[in-house]
Amino acid sequence: MTCLLLLGFAAVLTFLVPGHLARAGWAARAPRLAIRAWHAVGYAVLISSGLAAAVALMHWSASHELACVTWQVCLDALRGAHGRAGQVAAFAGLATLTLLSVRLPTAWWQMTTTGGRIRRRQLEMLHLTGTVRADLDATVVPAPDPAAYLVPGRHPHIVVTTEALHRLDPSELAAVLEHERAHAVGHHHRLRAAAALLDRAFPRVPAFTHATRQVNRLVELCADDAAVRRQGPLPLARALVALAVPCPDPLALNAAGGDPAERLRRLLQPPPPLPLPARAAAAAAWALLPVVPVVIVALEKLAP
Ligand SMILES: [Zn+2]
Repeated sequence: MTCLLLLGFAAVLTFLVPGHLARAGWAARAPRLAIRAWHAVGYAVLISSGLAAAVALMHWSASHELACVTWQVCLDALRGAHGRAGQVAAFAGLATLTLLSVRLPTAWWQMTTTGGRIRRRQLEMLHLTGTVRADLDATVVPAPDPAAYLVPGRHPHIVVTTEALHRLDPSELAAVLEHERAHAVGHHHRLRAAAALLDRAFPRVPAFTHATRQVNRLVELCADDAAVRRQGPLPLARALVALAVPCPDPLALNAAGGDPAERLRRLLQPPPPLPLPARAAAAAAWALLPVVPVVIVALEKLAP
């Protein structure tokens, strides 16, 4: 029963919630909250699946002393001591736990090594061709395309091409630089990586695929909000149009990234922000979502 409840919860979060959340109008009004929501959904799916697998493998109850007997109980279930259905469930649980414990560290390792290699190459390129401009707090690189982007890391670098400097007026450039600084200060590369990790470990799971795409979109809205607070919406809107060419680095946090059409609409007709009480209530609810599977197990297994 616990296992079915957990699987049902994971299935709802995997197949039903992402579509609704992706279409939710409030996300553009509170993009930071929406990012938390996507992370909460993704990690709640992961925790539910892991706990469902553990419950299927361990036929334990409050009467067992869990820490002492877990291993023996696992073996009993695998040997068929809890019946044929219990044996099948135990093997499925073992397979799922094995998959989780192999795929997640592998995906993390792949992302870390690939990201590190790309970043080193970017830094070498900046070192060779870039000119540090202290007045801009950015590195200028010669390039025929107009672009501005962030090379994230422990010491993030804002990069602007010579063509972008040529096309942007001072207020537009200031707005673009604020946008990139917001990516750096908000550690947006980590928010993107947290979503991308699950998608890389378990591709084609709708909740994870949606989360990666939506977090990539929402960090751009967060950075826009920061830039608008300092520079106003119009310079950034004009800069978006001026920079509307593909970024040379698809992994970079690009000034014209996300959904440029949506960003432009949002800058020209800003939606009203969510009221504070609604934001606080929603933040608490999303933060508690990954705890729900733990509560399900606790209530089912530990209740007297
Ligand atoms: Zn950006």
